Amino acid sequence: MTLPDCKPLVDLSGKRGLVVGIANDHSIASGCAEAFARCGARLGASYLNEKARPFVEPVAERLGIEWLAPCDVREEGQLEALFAEARERWGGLDFVLHSIAFAPRDDLHGRVVDCSADGFGAAMDISCHSFLRMARLAEPLMADGGCLLCVTFYGSERVVEHYNLMGPVKAALESATRYVAAELGPKGIRAHAISPGPIATRAASGIDRFDELMERAREQVPERELVDVEDVGALAAFLVCPAARRITGTIIPVDAGQHLMA
Ligand code: NAD
Repeated sequence: MTLPDCKPLVDLSGKRGLVVGIANDHSIASGCAEAFARCGARLGASYLNEKARPFVEPVAERLGIEWLAPCDVREEGQLEALFAEARERWGGLDFVLHSIAFAPRDDLHGRVVDCSADGFGAAMDISCHSFLRMARLAEPLMADGGCLLCVTFYGSERVVEHYNLMGPVKAALESATRYVAAELGPKGIRAHAISPGPIATRAASGIDRFDELMERAREQVPERELVDVEDVGALAAFLVCPAARRITGTIIPVDAGQHLMA
């Protein structure tokens, strides 16, 4: 049998993707954007605000991201404007990556039992409800179907020391992902939550004793090596590509096997 003249399995040429969550080169969103770009995707991305912009622009330039727009999901109208920009430039979207999270420091560093209603609400709004808003905004732009990705962590399922408030928030994000997949599935829109092992990023540095968490992970994982943003990007590129069209609603670990260990 001879193979037909075919393209690589993970081929994103011509696909239009929106990446939300690049803070700098170390961001998980940057690793994903790099993988999307290497597979041929056209990309737009956001930066949080003017202070963040100088750190995001070089990443965008390096990866050939076509356009950038500001997006703080807590600023009225900015998320809507981001999707409107995608519609104006491209007329639609094929995939979206939500790679953002935030919790106020005092609430994050205390016991979950003690967290304030305001802190809990802010963490849920930025880290979880924004994914639902993105799904709603993406829906009319994905006339030919598409894929929505978000990024979660194992602290949603098990109590991970110092992960605290983000545990219940990520549990909600994972559940939201399943409902998005079920509700938008009839339109050919898929949804997944990628669950990476610990990676040293800016957001991660806000978690108390994160270096210890990384060390523990390194000792636990079968391969004795931690994952990096490239590993997450490889999975993300596969999930959004047409070859993954029958896979939806999953919470997929990319954690070098840490989830296996007691
Ligand atoms: P990062 O600091 O590089 O990215 C976090 C992003 O969230 C930043 O770009 C920041 O601007 C954005 N953000 C925060 N508040 C926002 C707001 N109000 N509006 C819009 N954007 C906002 O860190 P990261 O580790 O790459 O985090 C990306 C995602 O990965 C998060 O959901 C995080 O919980 C998740 N995650 C990280 C790890 C890890 O170990 N680093 C592991 C599992 C999951």
